[in-house]
Amino acid sequence: MRIGFGYDIHRLEEGRPLIIGGVNVQHTKGLVGHSDADVLTHAIIDALLGAMARGDIGMHFPDTDARYAGADSITLLQRVMTLVRAGGYTVGNVDTVVVAEEPKLQPYIEGIRQRLAEGMDIEKSRISVKAKTNEKVGPQGCGEAISAYAVVLLETAD
Ligand code: MG
Repeated sequence: MRIGFGYDIHRLEEGRPLIIGGVNVQHTKGLVGHSDADVLTHAIIDALLGAMARGDIGMHFPDTDARYAGADSITLLQRVMTLVRAGGYTVGNVDTVVVAEEPKLQPYIEGIRQRLAEGMDIEKSRISVKAKTNEKVGPQGCGEAISAYAVVLLETAD
């Protein structure tokens, strides 16, 4: 078994869509980034790569590469899952935390779990998504940014 940990943070700005775990969340602001800035999916990708000791998301999908401008991060997740399977691993489980003062993510949690399960091609029961506020302190707490943490357990397939 191998454990992986991932973290990501993106700035919030008006006039951007807010994509979290592949789901379009209704909000007055969205996350800024080279790709679709899906902070949760990026944290999961880094956790998967970390578990395999295969570098990080920036190494695999550089933000200097025009091919990844506006990229759908679920597509990047699918590509990392190809590496996971090629390495002989299956995903035991994924646990995550999204830190956002607003909007309230609770109504979206089931949809996010479903979308991530499809993207990773694993059962939804293996994916946990939790949302927390930052108690109104710091950039997340002031609505300037959203961050996410993820841990994954990889198991050898045989
Ligand atoms: Mg990111």
